Amino acid sequence: MATKNKTLSQLNGEKTYTDIIFKRVWRRVADYQAHHPEKKIVMMAFGDTSQPLPSSAVEGLITAAHHLEHAESYTGYEDVCGNPQLRQAICTQYYHEKYDIDLDADEVFISDGAQSAGVNLQELFSPDSVIAIQNPAYPSFTEASLLANRIIVDLPCDERNGFIPHPPMQKVDLIYLCFPNNPTGAVANWAQLQAFVDYARQHQAVIIFDAVYSAFISSASVPHSIYQLEGAKDCAIEIGSFSKTANFTGLRVGWCTIPQRLTINDTVQGELNQLWRTRHGIKFWGTANVAQHAARATLSITGQKECQQIVDYYKTNAMLLQQGLEAYRLRCFGARNSPYVWLKASAGLSSWEFFEQLLQTTGIVGVPGTIFGSHGEGYLRLSALGQREAILEAIAHAKHFSIEI
Ligand code: PLP
Repeated sequence: MATKNKTLSQLNGEKTYTDIIFKRVWRRVADYQAHHPEKKIVMMAFGDTSQPLPSSAVEGLITAAHHLEHAESYTGYEDVCGNPQLRQAICTQYYHEKYDIDLDADEVFISDGAQSAGVNLQELFSPDSVIAIQNPAYPSFTEASLLANRIIVDLPCDERNGFIPHPPMQKVDLIYLCFPNNPTGAVANWAQLQAFVDYARQHQAVIIFDAVYSAFISSASVPHSIYQLEGAKDCAIEIGSFSKTANFTGLRVGWCTIPQRLTINDTVQGELNQLWRTRHGIKFWGTANVAQHAARATLSITGQKECQQIVDYYKTNAMLLQQGLEAYRLRCFGARNSPYVWLKASAGLSSWEFFEQLLQTTGIVGVPGTIFGSHGEGYLRLSALGQREAILEAIAHAKHFSIEI
């Protein structure tokens, strides 16, 4: 007799980020709009991109499609760990040329976005691994850990610590870190990140470092990759993505890097890297070859210039939004180094109450901070990945908020 997965079942019913956004938030906005058809809604809840693909990616897609059109150049299944040229380009054009980090192509694994890489990596480790996660955090880290019945240790991030947690007080096995952070936009400096690397080496723990927003860093003297830190190749896996720099949220290409030097308690050098290859062969035979080809094209000199323009567009959006909201005495964080604004609720309001207040006074829709974790209470996340017009509209609408508080 088949029985359902009880853990999965317990997460059902508006307990996960996607369900809460697409059911509760969406339903409330639709209901509000039905009662107030005259009111303009400015949707800033989604972390989805709004700008078109860079031309380098489009040309890459077309070239790859033409290859598939002819028997002589047709390719089907490729290396399960990803297109070798793309893996090499990530090592050379991304890690080496940008950050002077040396990695080999066989240390890079291509995935259908950073999401699947980030959460599936848990399978490399024993089921009883204890996992430390920033609170608030990108929700999938927590949800995937709950789904795997893991013990979670909170790393609280609040205004007092500048949204940068300290390494855990107790012994943990895995640590998810995300800088620049989604949702707070916080970035860790060298000393703060080094403290985590030192902790991991001392406790034979592994850091899963989510660097998908590294291109958004403006602050000087902030590491972009964890491998810029002394000893990080011994203890850290990094995940990256083309989603927010090249508008690949629909095309789906990301990666993770597992250095050969990374070892834990019961492994020799290269073993974890090899185990991830084995896991790819069992569960994942690669993302679409045309998408990988397009991703590689964005790493060319022209492609990188185009991606920089995309990032600059979203960064300008975020800065305009933050400055625009601050002009109405709203307290904001995060926009300097990320495409998000982490907005503090008016005095005494919970995240959901503030969500409601903002919706009713301004028509702006954000994500209540508690969806990212209990320490997100009293905040709301606004995404600046939308069109410039929407950002300007949001700023204009914010004046109603200032009038009514
Ligand atoms: N990690 C963080 C912190 C994110 O914010 C996102 C997407 O918003 C992802 C990972 C997933 O990115 P991808 O589209 O590459 O799966």
